[in-house]
Amino acid sequence: MYSAAVRQQALDLINSGSSLRSVSMSTGITRSTLREWRANPEKAQAARAHCPRCGDDPALPEPRADYAYLLGLYLGDGCVSVGGNPSKGVWKLRIICGDAWPGLIEECVRAMQAVRPTSKVMLQQKPGCQEVASYSRHWPCLFPQHGPGKKHLRLIELQPWQQIILTEHSGHFVRGLFHSDGYRGLNRVRRVLPDGEHWYEYPRYLFSNKSRDILGLCGAALDRLEVEWRFARPDVISVAKREAGARLDAFVGPKY
Ligand SMILES: [Zn+2]
Repeated sequence: MYSAAVRQQALDLINSGSSLRSVSMSTGITRSTLREWRANPEKAQAARAHCPRCGDDPALPEPRADYAYLLGLYLGDGCVSVGGNPSKGVWKLRIICGDAWPGLIEECVRAMQAVRPTSKVMLQQKPGCQEVASYSRHWPCLFPQHGPGKKHLRLIELQPWQQIILTEHSGHFVRGLFHSDGYRGLNRVRRVLPDGEHWYEYPRYLFSNKSRDILGLCGAALDRLEVEWRFARPDVISVAKREAGARLDAFVGPKY
C-alpha cells in the first residue's frame, strides 16, 4: 500500500510526461503498478483520498463538524470491530439508532458518509433499531479509542488532534453524545404569582454512560459550551437548570 503523497508524486511525474521506466527508477514503484495507476487515474485518485491520519502528512479528518458528531455517537454507543476476514485488515464502524427517531438515523448516515466518502454506509434492520455501518481500513485511524472489550473497562483518552477538533466543535460532539446515550425531557415547575398559578416547562437533559472517561469528556465539552451540569448519579450527567437546558437546546434539541 503506497501512501497518498507517494501516489500523487508518481501520478504527477507520469502526467508531466516522464516515462514509466524513469518514474519507476526514481520512485521504486514497479512499472506494472504505475501502468495500473495510469490506466485508472480515478481509482488511484480515490485511493489517494484515503486516510487523513495514516499518510505521510497527517491532517485532521474533514468535515470536522461531522467528525465531532460521529465521535460523539461512537463514544456514546458505537463500536469499531474487525469486519469479515481479519487478514484483510478491514474494520467496521457500527452505530445503533432507534427506529423511533428517523431523523437521527439520517443524520448518522450523513455524517458517516461525509467522514469516509469512499466507504458505502449500510443500514440493517434489527429489532426496534437500525444498525448503521461502514467498512474501512481506516476506522481505527479515525477512532484510536477502539480496542477489545467494553469502553468502560478500558482507558478512553483523546489524541491531541481530536482535542483540536472538539475545541472547535464541542456543540457537534455533545450533540452526538446526547443523540446516542442521552435523554431530553421537560421539567414542569409551578409558580404562584399575584395573578395566580403558573406552570412553566423547560428542557432537561440526561446523559448516561458507564465510562468515567466518556462522562469526563462530556462534562468538559459542556464546560466549553458554558452549559451548567452536575452528576445526577455517578454514571449520569444532568443538565437541569432552566438557562442550561435552553442553552443546550441550541446544540442538541429534541430527538426527531
Ligand atoms: Zn488510516
